[in-house]
Amino acid sequence: MDERQKERQTAVHSGVEDIPAVRLTDVHKVYALGRTEVVAVRGVSLSIKEGDFASIAGPSGSGKSTILNLIGCIDVPTSGTVEVTGRETSSLNDREITRLRHKIVGFIFQSFNLIPVLNVFENVEFPLLLGSKPPPKSERREYTDFLIEAVGLSDWRSHRSNELSGGQRQRVAIARALATKPRIVLADEPTANLDSKTGADIIELMKKINEELATTFIFSTHDPSIVSIADHVIRLHDGEIADDSRAGVV
Ligand code: ADP
Ligand code: MG
Repeated sequence: MDERQKERQTAVHSGVEDIPAVRLTDVHKVYALGRTEVVAVRGVSLSIKEGDFASIAGPSGSGKSTILNLIGCIDVPTSGTVEVTGRETSSLNDREITRLRHKIVGFIFQSFNLIPVLNVFENVEFPLLLGSKPPPKSERREYTDFLIEAVGLSDWRSHRSNELSGGQRQRVAIARALATKPRIVLADEPTANLDSKTGADIIELMKKINEELATTFIFSTHDPSIVSIADHVIRLHDGEIADDSRAGVV
């Protein structure tokens, strides 16, 4: 763990951080499909604390991916505001959006999105090469190996991602999402393509990283059995919040 992560962990655990990691205020998202409109998100307001392990749960089509895409600045709301670490995303310029996607938010996709011709090490290291000032090679190697070990794949370091099982690929995707030390990791149905045991292992691994690195995790799922480990659960139904509860808060 480096200094930045230690500081963050101290701040998170002492409750000093009171700016939420994410705040949505009366967000609507309407997609135009030919002449009809699909309202994917209708009037959602929510707040996720820094350091939380939060789950957005709901059936298919309830708006989970749309909300994660809005938080990750992959999409923009039709109305309402999205704030990430205290900054309203609509006020960010292109350079700031790029920085947010690179340094503040890490994404884990349902279908892993690894680069098949690269090996495990190269896939995890990849985001570190994208910034304007990539860290030196020795530093990249050290942190990449730390992450590969953290997700339990040291023995697979030189294997290409297409030689790995689904669970192993999702572990690589988690390590890759953490490479730039983001404050927030968004995971869109990270267990949907895995069997239930492997899925539970993946959620547990994310929880461990959440506790050790104080990284905020927000994962979506349609599987009610895996939300129990979350300390904040937001349930969606037809684009609206059906329930929003934090562990320990009545
Ligand atoms: P979930 O991730 O919970 O399955 P989504 O956020 O993907 O839900 O979708 C919510 C609703 O918005 C669905 O009815 C879906 O068909 C619609 N939708 C999502 N993305 C688009 C899009 N790009 N264009 C049109 N409709 C969309
Ligand atoms: Mg989805």
